[in-house]
Amino acid sequence: MGQVTSLLNPLGWTLPVVPELDDLTVGGLIMGCGVETSSYKYGLFHNIYVSFELVLADGSVVTCSKEDNPDLFYAVPWSHGTLGFLVSAELQIVKASQYVRIHYKPIQGYSSQQLNDFVECLVYSKSTGVIMAGQYTDGCEPDKDIIPFGNNVMFRYLFGWLVPPPVSLLKLTQTNTTKTLYELHHVVQDILVPVNKMIDTLNMLDKQLRLYPIWICPFKLTSQPGLVHPLGDEDEMYVDIILYGNPQVKPFIAKDCIRNIERFARQVHGFQMLYGDMYMSREEFHEMFDHTCYNEMRKKLNCENAFPEIYDKVCNATQHISPLQIKSIRIMCIKAQYTSFTHEKGITKCRLKCSEERITC
Ligand SMILES: Cc1cc2nc3c(=O)[nH]c(=O)nc-3n(C[C@H](O)[C@H](O)[C@H](O)COP(=O)(O)OP(=O)(O)OC[C@H]3O[C@@H](n4cnc5c(N)ncnc54)[C@H](O)[C@@H]3O)c2cc1C
Repeated sequence: MGQVTSLLNPLGWTLPVVPELDDLTVGGLIMGCGVETSSYKYGLFHNIYVSFELVLADGSVVTCSKEDNPDLFYAVPWSHGTLGFLVSAELQIVKASQYVRIHYKPIQGYSSQQLNDFVECLVYSKSTGVIMAGQYTDGCEPDKDIIPFGNNVMFRYLFGWLVPPPVSLLKLTQTNTTKTLYELHHVVQDILVPVNKMIDTLNMLDKQLRLYPIWICPFKLTSQPGLVHPLGDEDEMYVDIILYGNPQVKPFIAKDCIRNIERFARQVHGFQMLYGDMYMSREEFHEMFDHTCYNEMRKKLNCENAFPEIYDKVCNATQHISPLQIKSIRIMCIKAQYTSFTHEKGITKCRLKCSEERITC
């Protein structure tokens, strides 16, 4: 996204939906999901592309659009690279002004804003939050900088990478211990629910997690075939409810709690973004995501022997026991002199002895 915006912005253009981390890629956002504060107007990232090229399981390249290969065009969003490898995309662009004027509206309940270019909300507790609505503008008010030195060239040069740190850096520095600690004590959840279920969802999240602040981003969910669409035939307004952090509910049992959230999401015809923590069974996953179009494409394009299913690729519940992982552990064990396996609370531990030392993975 960083490269796209630095190309378009000086020309006075932008993508209609710009997910805010510079490291996010067009491929990842089409294959996964992307949302931003303009999504209430334009929809999710998959609503802003016109066509894309995909390398299929047999090595051929196809172009997909609403006119060419429409089934594949609609099956690809959220499919996480399990139908083919995306090599190019044609995206819509829209005019952009140099600045965005933001209005902050403290709230003590639920209200709505319209006719803005951007809308989002931060929720600080069960009863307090702030709605932020932005409109493009050509002038800015210089005395109203929120981070006064944020635009200073020296600050950006020396510390720009800190706000926020690139995801690639975070991934690079993550050890197995931090991964386990994250899994047990930290929550990453993007839950997409119909806007009329927002209050119920916030109440449920308060009970399950008590984790604030919460970011809410309204978006239009378009009625089209594919893994994610509204229940009826009409486009529907949804909200993406995003939580990152340490829950204050005690005791916090990650798996139970996330499973409760997932159950609720399924009941209200909601969805979970697939990069977050997820513990659904395969059946529950199929209940949440409509696999009709996806399965047809997998069969037609002989994906079975080329790409894993989405569930096997993204779901935490399978991550401990996926055949691929067990295979890699076995390979390690053949090289080691001593092995033992234990399987407790969904975690497989392998103990092996290499030379004189014992290593637990
Ligand atoms: C810390 C954090 C913050 C986030 N913040 C936001 C946010 O503000 N707004 C937002 O919308 N989203 C956000 N997300 C979610 C993010 O947009 C999605 O997870 C997105 O799918 C990631 O895109 P990526 O480019 O990093 O792709 P990756 O995570 O690398 O890939 C996503 C999936 O797509 C597959 N894939 C990637 N490229 C291709 C390709 N060319 N062909 C085939 N398959 C491919 C990958 O194998 C993977 O399964 C955030 C995620 C994290 C971890």
